Amino acid sequence: MIPSTKKDAKKGTGIQVFARFRPQNSIEDKNKGHEAIKFDKDEKTIAVMTPEKKNESQMYTFDKVFKQNSTQDEVYNLAARPLIEDLFSGYYATVFAYGQTGGGKTYTMEGKPKKDKDAEDLRGVIPRAVEHIFDRIESKSDESTEYTVTVSYVEIYMEKIRDLLDATNTKNNLGIRVDLQRGVYVDGATEIVVNSDLELLKILERGSHKRHVSGTSMNVESSRSHAICMISLAAKNVNDFTIKTGKLFLVDLAGSEMVRKTGATDQRLQEAKQINKSLTSLGIVIKTLTERKLNAHVPYRDSKLTRILQDSLGGTSRASLIIACSPSSFNLAETVSTLRFGTRAKFIKNKPRVHVGYGGTEAEELLRKRDEEISRLKEQIAALTDAADVVNKENQAFRSVYGELPPDAELTEEFKRKPKLPQQFQRAVEYCSILEAEVFAISKEAKLVRHATSEIRQHIVTQRDVFGEARHQMAAAFRAPECTEEMRGKGREVDEILAMARWRSEDVLKSLRPLERASLAIEVAAKDSKTFGGQYHNNNNNNN
Ligand code: ADP
Ligand code: MG
Repeated sequence: MIPSTKKDAKKGTGIQVFARFRPQNSIEDKNKGHEAIKFDKDEKTIAVMTPEKKNESQMYTFDKVFKQNSTQDEVYNLAARPLIEDLFSGYYATVFAYGQTGGGKTYTMEGKPKKDKDAEDLRGVIPRAVEHIFDRIESKSDESTEYTVTVSYVEIYMEKIRDLLDATNTKNNLGIRVDLQRGVYVDGATEIVVNSDLELLKILERGSHKRHVSGTSMNVESSRSHAICMISLAAKNVNDFTIKTGKLFLVDLAGSEMVRKTGATDQRLQEAKQINKSLTSLGIVIKTLTERKLNAHVPYRDSKLTRILQDSLGGTSRASLIIACSPSSFNLAETVSTLRFGTRAKFIKNKPRVHVGYGGTEAEELLRKRDEEISRLKEQIAALTDAADVVNKENQAFRSVYGELPPDAELTEEFKRKPKLPQQFQRAVEYCSILEAEVFAISKEAKLVRHATSEIRQHIVTQRDVFGEARHQMAAAFRAPECTEEMRGKGREVDEILAMARWRSEDVLKSLRPLERASLAIEVAAKDSKTFGGQYHNNNNNNN
């Protein structure tokens, strides 16, 4: 299963490497080969004799070392079974077989068909994986998940991709493409939807047969070509329509002895280079990935093989590498080279990832862009929410001035009729200046009235004093001896008239007083209103 604890995660993300040794074969026997390896008790370490110094040995450690008598079942359970389980969770998985020609790659991957019920089950990783997948589908079968299994099978030879399932034999040079839905895929490769393990195995058998018979002599071309079987498992959730796509790559690589330069002539060397390009690239890709140079360019695109397997090498796939080795001193150099390759591959770190509806290292770039787009939209939503907050606050301010708004229906009409605040201010300012002008006019009249009354008062006061003086003089004249009784009688009548006129003057002065007070009050009020109006103007201008 997918690692969940930190310890497990560390273990699970590296490529798991398994070394498998086959029994010594007849050629090695004939050439007096002897066993040149020693298995350690920990079942993970192998000691290999150094060719030069017989008593010294070199140690190599892997996740597991399988001895000559190991069964296909043991190999499958450790190297492949856990990966097949993960396919159902939407992970990609790859099982590679690497080693020299005759090392046991095809035996490990394909094995031998089961002849009868009682014979030892010699079937390899591929048929066991296929059976496992369909067993799981049947045992997992429930209403909410629909499974679709499709298969493609191709071979890379001389950097050309040949379709092993193509009935027309025309698809001999296919291209590789990438898209969001499918990840990295072989463009135009026959894809067959299968409904049972037997159907799938029949199809693969036909493909394998095509591979083997096309060689000029037995095992020649097949040892120089890479066979890649791709099984895709789509699990569709019928409730939420998500599709988890697990992909399984089962890879039988070309013989590793082709990697090293032989003493070939120029022309043969060119041909050999082309034949080996994919395997050489695989070595370089693994080297780059394990040197851990920061931002180092990984040359996946340099060959067809590394491009197809991009996700299995330092990508999002889980991967097992099985190195198939000879135990014999006769093939010691090849065995050492194979063990070294395996040791290096152990340091590759993959980051297994669930593929829901899409996948592939290049597809990740597209996904990243989509994630960016989503966070950009989220920011926009946040900005809009802020803006809505501001509008809400303005609404509250509006309500605090005009009270609660009427229900929806009338709201807009009512709102339209409400004069806008600036307009109201404007109108108030205009009204204010009209009032000011009127107050000014009134205060002017009041001033005139005050001046007039003050002159009238002066005049009347003078008259009153004149009347007073006249009576005083008349009283003195009456006291004179020459004044007759008759004159005194007439004088009394005039004095009465003067007294009456003086009294009238006092009366007018009294009635002038309210008029004076009123005009003064108007002037003071007009002065106040001017002061207030000025303040009002100032405030209003500051607000704008
Ligand atoms: P490769 O594909 O690496 O060239 P093969 O898988 O064809 O090598 O193996 C070469 C021969 O050795 C075959 O006859 C195969 O049956 C035999 N062989 C390989 N591995 C084993 C093994 N672990 N046990 C028994 N026989 C094996
Ligand atoms: Mg083979």
